[in-house]
Amino acid sequence: MKNVIITGGSRGIGAACVKAFAQKGYRVFFTYTKSEESAKELALETGATAICADVTSFYEMKKAADIIKNYGRIDIIVNNAGISQIKLFQNITEDDWDRMFDVNIKGMFITVKTFIDDMIHNKRGRIINISSMWGEEGGSCEVHYSASKAAVIGFTKALAKELAPSGITVNCVSPGVIDTDMNSHLTDEDMASLMEETPIGRIGKPDDAANAIMFLADDSSDFITGEVISVNGGIIM
Ligand code: NAP
Repeated sequence: MKNVIITGGSRGIGAACVKAFAQKGYRVFFTYTKSEESAKELALETGATAICADVTSFYEMKKAADIIKNYGRIDIIVNNAGISQIKLFQNITEDDWDRMFDVNIKGMFITVKTFIDDMIHNKRGRIINISSMWGEEGGSCEVHYSASKAAVIGFTKALAKELAPSGITVNCVSPGVIDTDMNSHLTDEDMASLMEETPIGRIGKPDDAANAIMFLADDSSDFITGEVISVNGGIIM
């Protein structure tokens, strides 16, 4: 049985991944920070193990690894935990900037550092990082978010080159607008106009992103590395 760790699995895309991996028979571990109730419900529903651990803390991720090691080595990392914020560039504070980069990119550095020795030891593994369409093309009033998500793409490609000889693939999924709490600030009107702008004509579902992640985790994708797969209904191409 393969072991997968999904960061930020308590809600949204991460929760869809927890369900999808559990359904396919993987042993699933997921982290969360604040959403304890939904994490516990999801663990009960899927049989996954919920671990309260902040991706920005080496100490907390090491504690998560200590729990997981009782079940064997990690085969797949899904670096999903993320935050966003809408602010005019002039209003972004140094704290806003640092927090964005701490969660969205340093969190990936910490998570991979925590589990990479296992994968290198196994001579196989999958690392799947979640970027965003704004990391590909930049979003107005989301400069810090866009910059952190662009960094995810650079991180993915560099790590893919370095880890390929160790049998580990590193890829990125770049979602467009997906219906999760992250977009709860959008009004019905905003949603309608985003749908109109999207060639496929709808807003994405968490499962749309999870399906691409499942594909990259599967053995059948083992000749794909350093790639960015956009899951955005064609809103950017
Ligand atoms: P979401 O519904 O807001 O869920 C975010 C998840 O990340 C939650 O489970 C949250 O857990 C967790 N999280 C946040 N900070 C964390 C931390 N420091 N340590 C551990 N976990 C943390 O977001 P989502 O829409 O599912 O987004 C998931 C990923 O997709 C993010 O990286 C996001 O940037 C990316 N993305 C989303 C969209 C979209 O339209 N929704 C588009 C492009 C990219 P707690 O609640 O327990 O803190």
